[in-house]
Amino acid sequence: MNTIIIQADNGTLKEDDIKTAVSILKNGGLVAFPTETVYGLGADALNPKASEKIYKAKGRPSDNPLIVHISDIKNIEQIARDVSMKAYELAKVFWPGPLTMILNKKDIVPYSTTGGLDTVAIRLPANKIAKDIISRFGGYVAAPSANVSGKPSPTKAEHVIEDLMGKVDMIIDGGKSTLGLESTIIDLTSTIPMILRPGCITKTMLENVIGDVRYDKAILENHDDKDVIPKAPGMKYRHYAPEGCLTIYEGDMLPVAEAINKKAMEYTLEGRSVGIIATEETKNLYKHGDIKSIGSRKDEDSIAAGLYSVLRYFDNVHTEYIFSESFVNGDLGQAIMNRLLKAAGYRVVKVDKDMQGG
Ligand code: AMP
Ligand code: MG
Repeated sequence: MNTIIIQADNGTLKEDDIKTAVSILKNGGLVAFPTETVYGLGADALNPKASEKIYKAKGRPSDNPLIVHISDIKNIEQIARDVSMKAYELAKVFWPGPLTMILNKKDIVPYSTTGGLDTVAIRLPANKIAKDIISRFGGYVAAPSANVSGKPSPTKAEHVIEDLMGKVDMIIDGGKSTLGLESTIIDLTSTIPMILRPGCITKTMLENVIGDVRYDKAILENHDDKDVIPKAPGMKYRHYAPEGCLTIYEGDMLPVAEAINKKAMEYTLEGRSVGIIATEETKNLYKHGDIKSIGSRKDEDSIAAGLYSVLRYFDNVHTEYIFSESFVNGDLGQAIMNRLLKAAGYRVVKVDKDMQGG
């Protein structure tokens, strides 16, 4: 398949390019476009054949549902039933933005889009290019992350090109995704709303608007090893794991750097390639390996935005051992650590404790 690549100008698409994107979607084709979370792979959400193409291009299991993107709050009513006051309150505060709500679906939404579920995931993105395409198309665009299943979500058009060139009709380059982590998913069909995937909109932020909110158990535990079945079907699949062996080091900054340095030296002397995920504050503490700062600890947003890019980089250069600092503090920490822990297969070294234990 011939893939058209379009460069947006300063976050805006030319009129002709919007028209091309819309006509591809109308014909049941696939358009990858930027959003503020990660790049999305868009198709007509109400056309079963179109959403099937998404599954095929991504190599995604067909029972892993897609998020339907809308461009106007009013559009919720067309695809969801029993929309509660809480849903509207959240929409009013957090849309457009990185929040996905799970609601009961109306018949118009095909099961091929919802992975066979009677619920539908809905989000109204903030990115101007995404909004322009969705509204001009007429409302409902299914758009999972525009990566091949099992790879990190794409935060730059070059990641999408790496994964989907020749498999989709169009890729729109709108620069780097500003947030860099997938949306928070909240299920509003349960009595107490439940977070199925942590993201930039935190539990506290949600509770400030609608009161009591819980985490799905599968987020908090290593469900690879336990019988906890996540409610977001996507979370049950083998998630992204880097090619190399990723280990997270937890503890105070200096002892962590010291412990990582020791390991990095050991492996380097053995002729192994080593990568280190560090921050602006710590990058100068490391002496061995390929040291990558993903952002500043004073600005958690920068860490969220840099994470997937660095993981992709280490895959591309086939790094064998990757050591990462941990990012447990702050509001975003939970969302960042959720992705990092999964990527590391929950391999964590607690530095203080280990040191005391000799
Ligand atoms: P992605 O768009 O690639 O970020 O993946 C979408 C995520 O949303 C997956 O983890 C899905 O399992 C989840 N999701 C989509 N629709 C539903 C739904 N109806 N119920 C629960 N989770 C959903
Ligand atoms: Mg995804």
